[in-house]
This record gives sequence, structure tokens and C-alpha cells, in this order.
Amino acid sequence: MAYKIAVFPGSFDPVTYGHLDIINRGLRIFDTVIVAVAGNAAKKNLFTIDERLDLIRTVTGNDRVQVCTFDGLLIDFVSEKGASVIIRGLRAVSDFEYEFQIAQMNSCLNSSVETLFMMTSVQYVYLSSSIVKEVCSLNGAIDNFVPPEVKSALRKKYNLS
Ligand code: ADP
Repeated sequence: MAYKIAVFPGSFDPVTYGHLDIINRGLRIFDTVIVAVAGNAAKKNLFTIDERLDLIRTVTGNDRVQVCTFDGLLIDFVSEKGASVIIRGLRAVSDFEYEFQIAQMNSCLNSSVETLFMMTSVQYVYLSSSIVKEVCSLNGAIDNFVPPEVKSALRKKYNLS
């Protein structure tokens, strides 16, 4: 069977247990999962690209996971990497409409690349990088949501000890 590569794109600002769950489940289906940190996102991010890449590398540490950044169209990056699948996580119904729109557009741009949606694991259904940042900035406990290295990096950003 052909070697299968999937790309898991996102902001990862910062990486959470929700992202790691999707990566680990992706590794059951694909030989390699490329975690692709969007470089040109319009969003205002807390962590720089390099900080986000470093955090993902620290908490994944599997030689079947590659971590890199991309600029420009995701679909072009996917082709350049020789991948045939884009993985996206789905949480609440609210994710659906936006994700459906992007998947349709990507399919129009390159129909040989498939988008695969993975349902979130139930314990992560309300977990997002934004909510973790908000809780941490208010000095709340985030141990159930991010690995210790990510927690330390977040607390440092918010000048918490
Ligand atoms: P983006 O700005 O592209 O949405 P994110 O870093 O927020 O970037 O998300 C990247 C991917 O990870 C998306 O497919 C998102 O649905 C998925 N994801 C984020 N949090 C979770 C979670 N708790 N459970 C499942 N998937 C998640």
C-alpha cells in the first residue's frame, strides 16, 4: 500500500490536548502527519510562529509527526508535501459551516486532495486555544487542557509565576 501522508493545518496558538488527540488518532490512519502552522493567518496570535512550532515539537516527539509552517494556499502546500489528505477536527455544530465552506473550496482548487473530519473526543468538545488563553490569563487552572510545557509558556506570557 502507498505511503500515506496527511496534513493537519491550524493556528495552534497554542497547541492543546484537543489538537494532540487529533494528531494521535491521525497517526492510526496515516504513516506521517504533518502539523502545519498557518503563517499568514489574519488572526492576532499570542505566540510567534517559532514559539508555536517549538511547543508542538516538544509535546509531540514522534518521528512520524512533522511540524512546519506554511504561507499561501494550504492546498498548494499539501501538494508540495506529497500529501493526499487534510485532517480537520470538528467540535460543536458551530464548526461545521465554516469547515464545510473551506473543504468545498479546497476541493474545487484540487479535487485529488480529500478533507477528512475527525470528531473531537468527548472530553475535548469545548476545548479551544482561545478559551485556554482566557482562563490562563485570569490565573485559572489549565492542567486538563494543555501539556505542562504549554502551561509554563502560557503563564510566562501572562507574567504569572
Ligand atoms: P484554526 O484557526 O485553523 O481553526 P486551530 O488551532 O484553532 O486553528 O485548530 C486547528 C484544528 O484543530 C482545527 O481543525 C480544529 O477544529 C481542531 N481542533 C482544535 N481544538 C480541538 C478539539 N478540542 N477537539 C478536536 N479538534 C480540535
